[in-house]
Amino acid sequence: MDITFFGATREVTGSCYLVRGKDVAFLVDCGMFQGGERSRNAPPFPFAPRDIDFILLTHAHLDHSGRIPLLVREGFRGKIYATLPTIELCRILFYDTVKLMREEVERENRRRRRSGKPEIAPLFGEEEVEKALELFEPVGYDEIAEEQGVTFVFRDAAHILGAAVLEVWGEGTKVVFSGDIGQFGNVMEGSPPIIEEADFVVIESTYGNRRHKTLEETRREFAQVMQDAMGTCGKVLIPTFVVDRAQRVLYEIRLLRDSIGLHCPVYFDSPLGKQTTDIYLKYRHLLSGELEKFHLQDDNPFGFPGLTYVTTPEESKALNDLDHAIILAGSGMCTGGRILHHLKHNLFKETTTVVFVGFQSRGTLGRALVDGAKLVHIFDEDIAVRARIATINGFSAHGDQEDLLRWVGYFRNRPVFLVTHGEEEIAEAFAQALRKKGFEAIVPAFGDTLDLPRRTVVAVPRMPEKEDIIKRLEGEIQKLRGKVLAQESEVLLQSALILLEEAGRRSASADELPKDGV
Ligand SMILES: [Zn+2]
Repeated sequence: MDITFFGATREVTGSCYLVRGKDVAFLVDCGMFQGGERSRNAPPFPFAPRDIDFILLTHAHLDHSGRIPLLVREGFRGKIYATLPTIELCRILFYDTVKLMREEVERENRRRRRSGKPEIAPLFGEEEVEKALELFEPVGYDEIAEEQGVTFVFRDAAHILGAAVLEVWGEGTKVVFSGDIGQFGNVMEGSPPIIEEADFVVIESTYGNRRHKTLEETRREFAQVMQDAMGTCGKVLIPTFVVDRAQRVLYEIRLLRDSIGLHCPVYFDSPLGKQTTDIYLKYRHLLSGELEKFHLQDDNPFGFPGLTYVTTPEESKALNDLDHAIILAGSGMCTGGRILHHLKHNLFKETTTVVFVGFQSRGTLGRALVDGAKLVHIFDEDIAVRARIATINGFSAHGDQEDLLRWVGYFRNRPVFLVTHGEEEIAEAFAQALRKKGFEAIVPAFGDTLDLPRRTVVAVPRMPEKEDIIKRLEGEIQKLRGKVLAQESEVLLQSALILLEEAGRRSASADELPKDGV
């Protein structure tokens, strides 16, 4: 097998890796290039989409999934394997992308018409999204799946809901794709999976040279910022990604209501806000220990009195009339979306506080504000910045260097690390950190192909046999002893008992069948 890197090479967007074997070719992720690199999304692809047999998709973030409808437009017809939450989030994000692209293209074409230039078309539309969604094939966490001689397992990456680290076996070689991995002990999704063996590991390095603040420090910092903001009686604007980060912030606000008595009305101003939060609630059994107690009590960790979901543009505009409110809106880096309207109407006021809760890329309005700009340009207008600007980095859905090295430390054999998904100097710094630990680490460039020689040190997993299943059952029963069970768990236990009895009955009657030749 070999692997060619067609994105997220010495940069953080456009994840797309092509793996080729003797009789098979598949992609791991097919994401969009974002920020200043967007022009690279336009076809042609550097390979023939028709020749790709299938895609393994690590998670729904557009920098990993966003070019899939385009790949379908260009002739791809294989299956796209992903977890159910990833598929549901992709549905929402893909249709939203179509809408945003259409608006952008219309604006650009108005300009082009005026200057006599030829018009442009969006990369894809609803039709391609529909076709792409039909190709999705759900696969559960920890389930062993196979296609065309390639075996793969999705493990919970603790990054966003549905995100996976992939273990892939083919032609005697095992490759692990980290996708994006979360922090250990992440409040939303728990901890990344422990994997002990691989020949090669393609590993992300977004925060490969940094350290996040601890959870306690982050919460203290957020409480202080919100408390100070409340003192001004103005608006608090929180630019945020609508998937995951927004739900995390809602949960943290809920906690602050109890700890510091934060009782200001909160508006989640996004046409996607309600839908994404509903998906988080639907799959809340996949969320972490801290959120599990809400699940047991049938409580919504992201909901509280005084929270309003704002859907229509009219409702969003009406927020301008409020003096005192907390408003969450996309986009997270202020490159578009409703947050721009709120910034335009409130940045010049001294009573406003803007709280950034995520990474701000170079060249974005968010980065300019974080860097202390005193004057910004929004919708062709100069806006003075008199608002307070605060940054909370600890809510990140990515692990920091310490998390990444801890994850790497669980590999018992010595895999070769292929470092991707990090800005050049960060990816290099992380590769250096790996080498210091005695690992071989390579930072591939765009288009680099790497041979994955046959290693055969790592056994391909098999479906569990009866003995394995019984052993696991015994383990689960052991864990239940001494635990206080919620009523719904007791019902589940009853059902398990009925199923076990039924399994026993069926094998007893199989024993009674006459044997051949008797
Ligand atoms: Zn991601």
